Amino acid sequence: MPVLFVGHGSPMNALEKNPLTEGLAALGKSLPKPQAILCVSAHWETQGTQVLYNAEPPTIHDFYGFPKPLFDVQYPARGPLALAHETQKLLPNATLNEKWGLDHGTWSVLVHMYPHADIPTYQVSIDVTKTAEQHLEMGRHLASLREKGVLILGTGNIVHNLRMLQWRDPKAVFPWAEEFDLGIKKALEERDEKTLLHYEQKFGEAADLSVPSPEHYLPLLYCYGASEKDDKLSFPYEGYEMGSLSMRSVLWS
Ligand code: ZN
Repeated sequence: MPVLFVGHGSPMNALEKNPLTEGLAALGKSLPKPQAILCVSAHWETQGTQVLYNAEPPTIHDFYGFPKPLFDVQYPARGPLALAHETQKLLPNATLNEKWGLDHGTWSVLVHMYPHADIPTYQVSIDVTKTAEQHLEMGRHLASLREKGVLILGTGNIVHNLRMLQWRDPKAVFPWAEEFDLGIKKALEERDEKTLLHYEQKFGEAADLSVPSPEHYLPLLYCYGASEKDDKLSFPYEGYEMGSLSMRSVLWS
């Protein structure tokens, strides 16, 4: 199976029909049909790595101040328990979590890619105590799942600065956001791990502004770790929203 990173942006994308969400729908149709989907979402941070182990994961509405229709969205995919167990064994010191569900980083993307929610779906958390190297290593541990038909899906944003959002200017892009996004694109193309891991050193202030906290960037490292140099790299979607969000998607297939 391919590995995919998606820039998810606003939760409202779950309801909207726009070039991003139409692209996700097309991608869902064009990729080989997965046996299961494993999401690494910016919106599940824990102490220690956890694997979602829930046959009926609830749809989590982990945001405030959005319209009611967004709180009504349900994504009733089942959870693959045997696979979750197997995944736990691949990840050093990981534990199973029977209570968590699918957060909006996951379902706001999957409602477009797989609207019937008919593919078993689970998540691996982002352990806040790990270094960038360790997150990348976690991706390497997950790589063998690709051969079992699992789509590894990272969901975050390469550039994600909510404080700098330009609400009145949806098409804006700050120069530092573009510099960082294009720099990471180049590092992915060159498989330049040093830059992917130590982006602060490479991009300085542009990195500080683009990644003020790492949770939206880190899912990319899981995906990169699960990819191989023989994979064909492509960018199914590129673009910016409101100045300080990169909506870039990355596909290794
Ligand atoms: Zn998010």
